[in-house]
Amino acid sequence: MASDSFSSLSISAEQIANLESLGYKKMTPIQAQSLPHVLKGKDLIAKAKTGSGKTAAFGIGIINLINPRFFGVQALVICPTRELADQVGKEIRRLARAVPNIKLVLLCGGKPLGPQIGSLEHGAHIVVGTPGRLQDHLTKGTLKLDGLKALVLDEADRMLDMGFAEVMEDIISYTPKSRQTMLFSATYPDTIKQMSRTIQRDPVTVTVESEHKESVIEQLFYEVKKHERNSTLLALFEHYKPETTIVFCHTKIQCDEVASMLRDNKIEALAIHGDLDQRERDKVLVRFSNNSCSVLVATDVAARGLDIKALEAVINYELPRDPEIFIHRIGRTGRAGETGLALSIYTPSDVMRLNAIEKYQKKPCVSDVPESLDRDPSFTLVPPMVTIQLDGGRKSKIRPGDILGALTGDAGLSGSQIGKIDIFDMSSYVAVERDAARQVLSYLADGKIKGRAVRARKVR
Ligand code: AMP
Repeated sequence: MASDSFSSLSISAEQIANLESLGYKKMTPIQAQSLPHVLKGKDLIAKAKTGSGKTAAFGIGIINLINPRFFGVQALVICPTRELADQVGKEIRRLARAVPNIKLVLLCGGKPLGPQIGSLEHGAHIVVGTPGRLQDHLTKGTLKLDGLKALVLDEADRMLDMGFAEVMEDIISYTPKSRQTMLFSATYPDTIKQMSRTIQRDPVTVTVESEHKESVIEQLFYEVKKHERNSTLLALFEHYKPETTIVFCHTKIQCDEVASMLRDNKIEALAIHGDLDQRERDKVLVRFSNNSCSVLVATDVAARGLDIKALEAVINYELPRDPEIFIHRIGRTGRAGETGLALSIYTPSDVMRLNAIEKYQKKPCVSDVPESLDRDPSFTLVPPMVTIQLDGGRKSKIRPGDILGALTGDAGLSGSQIGKIDIFDMSSYVAVERDAARQVLSYLADGKIKGRAVRARKVR
C-alpha cells in the first residue's frame, strides 16, 4: 500500500510547504498511486474523473521536471474544452508557486491569436490548451515543442468523443519521442487502449479503487403471455426508468415495430438492424452515443462491435436460444463498477431457454410477474441532448474545433452545453443540450463556421 503523505515523494521541501498552504494534507488515491511513477518519468494511463485530484497528480510531476532557466516549452497539457483548460491552468499555477519564475501560457480557441503569440514569444515553460488552437499555433510555427519533456492528455476519452483524434495525432507529431506521456481518462474504451499503444511506452496503469469494484448485474426475468410483451416492456420502462437502454429483438421487423411502439409511448427509441444503409446506421449510432437517443432496439448482429459505454439497462424482448448470447447481451450493462440491470421477458414456451441460462450461469433465474411492477404512467423518456447535423465535414476541412469555436464564440454557448462532435466525410453531427438547440439553429441560419455558411438541421 503506497503512503498517502506528500512527504513520501521525492519533491522539494518548498513544494511540500506549498501543498500544505493549499490545504492539501494528504494525497488523494489517484495522486498516491500515480505520483511515485510520474516523478520517475514513467508513462502513465490513469483512469480518473475530474474531482479526484488528477490535475495535481500530473501537475506536481510537471513542475518537478521544469528547468526555469531554459526558456522553452517543456510541458504541454491538452484539454477538450476551454473551461477545463482554464481550471487546469489555475491549478498548475497554484502548484507552481513552489518554484520561482515558472511561466504558464493558456492557448484556447475563441480568443485572439495575437496576445497568445506575444506570450509565447516571452517564453513559456508550460502550455495548457485545446486541440484546435494548439494545432493552429504549431502550423504557424508560433509554438515550438522541440524541447518538450512531458505531454498530458487530459480527459482523453472526451477528446476522442469530440472527434479530436486526428488533431491530437498531428500535435503529437511535433513532440520529441523521448517525452513522458501521461494519459488521463474517465473511461477506458478500446479506442483509448489503441491510442496508448501508439503514443506511449510501457505505461503504468492506475485506477482509483472505487472503480476497481467488480461490476454487478442485477438479473430479473418476467413471465408473460405472448400478447403481453409490449405492455410488459412499457411497464419495465415505467418502473425502472433507465436512461440508456438496449432492447434486444430477434428480427428486423420486430426491431422496427418495438421502436415505433416505444416512440408512440413517448420513449425516444431508434431501431438498428442490417437493413439500414451505412449512413442511416452512422446516424443512429451517433445519436445513441451522444445522448440524443435513449433507447436502441437492436438485433444481435447489429449490436456486434458497437463501441457503447456503460448502459443502465439491457432488456431482452425475447430470450435468445443460446445462453452465451444472453451473457454477451447483458455484459453491456454494469460496466465500470456501476450496477447494471438486465431485464428479460419470456413466455411459458421459452422455459427451455430459461433453463439453459440457469444451467450456464449455475444459478437460478429470479422470475417475477409484470403485475408486481409499480408503474409511473406519466413517465416519458426525453434525452438530454439534441443532434444537429451540419452539411460539411472532413472533405470541406471542418474540424471539431471549428464547430466548438463557432458555437462557444459567436453563438454564445458554453462548452458544457456542447457534447460529442462526430465528423464524417460530407457531414458533421454535434450534440447540444436540448434547451440550446434553437439558439444554435438560429445562429447557423446566417452565422458561419470557418468563414463559410453551412446548412444545419435538427436530426429527428
Ligand atoms: P481535480 O480532480 O484535479 O479537478 O481536483 C479537484 C479539487 O481537489 C481541486 O479543487 C483541487 O484543488 C483539490 N485537490 C487536489 N488534490 C488535493 C489534495 N491532495 N487534498 C485536498 N484537495 C486537493
